[in-house]
Amino acid sequence: MSKFDKYFLMSPSDAAEYAAEKLSIFCCDCELDSKEIGDGNLNYVFRVWDKNSDKSVIIKQAGFTARISEDFKLSPDRNRIEAETLRFQGDLAPGLVPVVYKYDDTLSCCSMEDLSDYTIMRQALLQHKIFPKFAEHITTFMVNTLLLTSDVFLNHQEKKSLVKSYTNPELCEITEDLVYTEPFNDYKHRNDVFLPNLDWVKKELYNDNELKLEVAKLKFDFLTNAQALIHGDLHTGSIFVNENSTKIIDPEFAFYGPMGYDVGNIIANMIFAWVNADATMDNEEECINFKNWVENTICEIIDKFKAKFMKVWKEEAKEVLAKTPGFSQWYLSQVIHDTAAVAGLELCRRIVGMAHVKDITSIENESARLRAERICITVAKGYIKNRESYLFGEQFVNTLKEVE
Ligand code: ADP
Ligand code: MG
Ligand code: MG
Ligand code: MG
Repeated sequence: MSKFDKYFLMSPSDAAEYAAEKLSIFCCDCELDSKEIGDGNLNYVFRVWDKNSDKSVIIKQAGFTARISEDFKLSPDRNRIEAETLRFQGDLAPGLVPVVYKYDDTLSCCSMEDLSDYTIMRQALLQHKIFPKFAEHITTFMVNTLLLTSDVFLNHQEKKSLVKSYTNPELCEITEDLVYTEPFNDYKHRNDVFLPNLDWVKKELYNDNELKLEVAKLKFDFLTNAQALIHGDLHTGSIFVNENSTKIIDPEFAFYGPMGYDVGNIIANMIFAWVNADATMDNEEECINFKNWVENTICEIIDKFKAKFMKVWKEEAKEVLAKTPGFSQWYLSQVIHDTAAVAGLELCRRIVGMAHVKDITSIENESARLRAERICITVAKGYIKNRESYLFGEQFVNTLKEVE
């Protein structure tokens, strides 16, 4: 009988003991140390390392409630979804996710490759660092994980069984509320609006009925469009970067949903980096350089996504009707329209909803923050309302530059 035969929430020393007993990473004469390094909203992340060698491991454990609030009761089954998704994505997009060593169903924990020598992308962007290969890497990740899990590629019966095993109702509900509903009506009274912006937000979001009709349509797409196995939380806090490499983590929200949900999240989070630089960088030349890199990256993400998507479609599509003239172009256009819409939703919800981003909250000057928030929301409304006019990367950037 081992203490790890039954679920309990581990402490750092439990995690070290667990690593020694359950994982075959460390040798028997090792001296393990451990620390909880989680900074997310939901889970506990332990780093365990050997003091006498360079070996280390990450153990991520899910609790029965969210880390930040006991009010969020959540099944730890999300950790199974995360581990299975990481393995699946690792097969589809080799080298772009951490290696999973073990998933433990009893403790709802996943042991994986330690990426401590990388930086979380949001932190790096807050220091206005640039990553020239990011667009290349993230578009390969998205095209492979999205298109190759869709009905375009998979046998439709096989896909339906995947839809079932990646069913994630509680985490979907968080997204349905926080991204699709609350930013536009605050019906749970959990929105957290920067006070000097409250009246403007009420007018622009809560009282714009044309916008709310479009958002209702989008919510029903998210609820019903089982298009591909999406990551579901693909913001810059879920991405590790260094100069040469990119690793995507934290796919616990993965489920079968619209492809544009992932692409749109990336675009919105690049815009957060842009407005942060715009608001905080004193050196004009450096500011322009950084903003130019973000703008080019947004263009590249959309345009490389489209080019790779068409290439993979041409080479890999299995669906009989996939080669129907015009069909792949029509399908991809819909994904880019969804991308624009979701970028808009993410921009709104991070400004007014309960989960903010540091890119905005770290802007200390009140009028600079007001300007940043209003740029995000104005761009967002354009993306949502005119989503069907977006097809090229440049159009996404032009909307940002017109609003600025
Ligand atoms: P949550 O689901 O709670 O948001 P994350 O998976 O985003 O948890 O992890 C939270 C933090 O833990 C990350 O921001 C990162 O600092 C650290 N972390 C997570 N996975 C790894 C890893 N494989 N290697 C190194 N650090 C990691
Ligand atoms: Mg996270
Ligand atoms: Mg995090
Ligand atoms: Mg998470």
